[in-house]
Amino acid sequence: MAGAMGGLLLVYAGWQLFRWPDGHRELIGDLFFYPVGVAAIFAAVGASRRCAAQPRLRSAWRLLALASVFYLAGDVAQTIYELSGPLPFPSVADAFYLLFYPLILCGLLRFPAGRRDLGAGVRLMLDLAVVAIGGAAVVMYVVLGPTVAQSGPDPLQSGISIAYPVGDMVLLVGLGSVLLRRTAVSSARALQSFAGGLLFFVAADLVYGYIELYSTYQGGDPVDSLWMIAIALFAVAGAAQTTPLATTEVIAEDQPHHASWAPYIAVAIGFGLLLFNERHQRLLPDASLVIAAVLLATLVSVRQFLAQRDLLHTQGRLTYQSLHDALTGLPNRALVVDRAEQMLARARRSRTPVAALYVDIDGFKHINDSFGHATGDELLSVVAARLSGIVREADTVGRLGGDEFVVLLEDHTLDAGPELVAERMCQVLGQPIDLQGTKGRTVSVTASIGIALGQRDSADDLLRDADFALYEAKGAGKNRWVMFESRMQTAAQDLLELEMDLKEALDAGQFFLLYQPTFDLQSETITGIEALIRWRHPVRGVIPPDAFIPLAEETGLIVPIGRWVLRTACQQAAAWHRQGRPLGMAINVSARQLDQPSLVQDVADTLAITGLDPAAITLEITETTLMRDAEAAARRCHALKALGIRLAIDDFGTGYSSLAYLRQFPVDALKIDRSFISGIAASGDSKALIHTLVQLGKTLGLETLGEGIEERAQLRELQREKCDSGQGFLFARPLEVDAIEELLGVNSPTNTVANTLVA
Ligand code: C2E
Ligand code: MG
Ligand code: MG
Repeated sequence: MAGAMGGLLLVYAGWQLFRWPDGHRELIGDLFFYPVGVAAIFAAVGASRRCAAQPRLRSAWRLLALASVFYLAGDVAQTIYELSGPLPFPSVADAFYLLFYPLILCGLLRFPAGRRDLGAGVRLMLDLAVVAIGGAAVVMYVVLGPTVAQSGPDPLQSGISIAYPVGDMVLLVGLGSVLLRRTAVSSARALQSFAGGLLFFVAADLVYGYIELYSTYQGGDPVDSLWMIAIALFAVAGAAQTTPLATTEVIAEDQPHHASWAPYIAVAIGFGLLLFNERHQRLLPDASLVIAAVLLATLVSVRQFLAQRDLLHTQGRLTYQSLHDALTGLPNRALVVDRAEQMLARARRSRTPVAALYVDIDGFKHINDSFGHATGDELLSVVAARLSGIVREADTVGRLGGDEFVVLLEDHTLDAGPELVAERMCQVLGQPIDLQGTKGRTVSVTASIGIALGQRDSADDLLRDADFALYEAKGAGKNRWVMFESRMQTAAQDLLELEMDLKEALDAGQFFLLYQPTFDLQSETITGIEALIRWRHPVRGVIPPDAFIPLAEETGLIVPIGRWVLRTACQQAAAWHRQGRPLGMAINVSARQLDQPSLVQDVADTLAITGLDPAAITLEITETTLMRDAEAAARRCHALKALGIRLAIDDFGTGYSSLAYLRQFPVDALKIDRSFISGIAASGDSKALIHTLVQLGKTLGLETLGEGIEERAQLRELQREKCDSGQGFLFARPLEVDAIEELLGVNSPTNTVANTLVA
């Protein structure tokens, strides 16, 4: 559309410039107007069709289309008059033309605008009034005043003459509304073109009025070009309206006014005219312009005052937002640090005791993952409320981010010492929580708390020490509070170093596997081997898995490490199979590995590469891992099971899983946790528990295995309970390949416990 209009305008400009042919200028000029007028109508109709889904926008374009129809009708009437003789005034053409103005305004006001609060609404009205008055001053000054002054005795004639400049004021108000309101994205370009068109239109009217006043207008006059451009821009505007994406398009609230300058221009014009009027022949009575100028200044001042007030309000809100957490409304890290600084400064002067408690929700990620972020947020809000409920008014509860909260205690007395507060927090947070997103299940969470007591150089130091203590609390099994001690700092730094080293360990080939056999408890023969990882650290020596697997889990490094274990163990098993020792190989799989969909593929690939019988592989998954997200774990287990491998639940008895839960996992074996075995000699309770656990396995038709058998008494007890197999230092420690081969070599695969013990 823009191209077509541009082309037409060029031809028209050529015609105006070379003034060819000489005669019938007004008729030829009219001919140029028809295609442009028709284009404007069709473009507006097209736009209204595209906006069918939004009735308000559709009606806006329909009104604009109707305005263009009247304008074209005016042109046609004009041509007919020109063909048939002298032009009467007023004529039917004037009636058509004059309908154009109000229809445009109505159309423009129908465009949906962003929702405003009251303040912004009032400001908009003031801005519009300013623009209207400024525009009116110009129109009055250039045309309206003189027209009124010169108007003849015929009231109809003078009425129509005045109606045009008034129509221009109406258009200026329309223009103001386009410039000052926020519009939907789909209409933005269209309205820009339309605003341009309006400017040209008003300019054309003013020049025309001026010509009419002081000389005579001829059809086809160069001033027509301004109208021509105006109508062409209306056509371009219609074409630029795009289909709104949603039926209710959101109009950006925070988008800045692109024309906040408009009112100032209007004021400048008002005062400019006042000066101009002073210098020239005083076209208008001074009073009217003075009134206009004073009115403008007043309106702009009021508007500025309102804007200033809103700005202060917004600033206040932004300051609050920048210092508070959006979700819980608690002080955020910046404010917590600031308050802690102040607290330390006061304590320095008055020597009052101070403390920072660093609170972290245990397993929050798990809740987020299983129930979704909305539920996670809900939980955090509850935690925030509960924490705030515990402390005194003067203390600070803040949220540092995620599931980390900080409580600052000042001037605490014995009855409200930090340990007591921490104890109460553990209690209060542990109470069941009803959340909307958990499908009627109440969840209960625990928290780990680190406490840093007493004076520090800075708030950062205080919080850091509390964080060290928190780390310690997590490491010690969570759901507890720990008081900071200076050794924790070294421990934490130590861990940080270890983490860095761990990142390189796999590539550096520092991992190796030890193999621990499992035995049939009745025949006391080897039934299989469990692969257990070790890390040969270049400085620290051999590190056991408990010291780095949690770290590897946390950092995600467990995934590549686990893959390496799987490959290496299976290759070893395959080698032993080839040597005629078809032993089963048990491999530990961690929670993070089980989360990976690629685990199933990894196992399948490993089986393919090594050519191992799938039944020779047992994956051991700890009970707590399975309970984390039982549904997802069950799905993954079924996929693994489909490969033909075996599954075992490791450390069984520590995860408090119910029978109902257990049944959904397609497992083959239960490995009863060492803690139950080691208690056998000491207590009757442990015996009863062992009995229950073995019976449970049997009920479910699963193989049972006792872990960590160190003493004969333990072995006998398990034998008595008819536990199927066992593993422990009594039989063999985790051994290097050579040692295992020696064990297997000295004894055929059917060796006995006696033999093993000798070895
Ligand atoms: P787990 O799978 O329950 O392995 C048994 C652990 O008990 C091994 O500790 C083993 O050395 C130890 N153990 C066996 N018999 C006895 C005994 O009679 N007395 C005592 N006190 N301990 C005994 P280890 O090798 O230190 O492994 C600890 C845990 O680390 C394993 O527990 C397993 O959960 C994890 N782990 C080991 N290797 C890997 C691995 O390759 N990947 C993953 N994800 N975890 C592994
Ligand atoms: Mg294991
Ligand atoms: Mg175990």
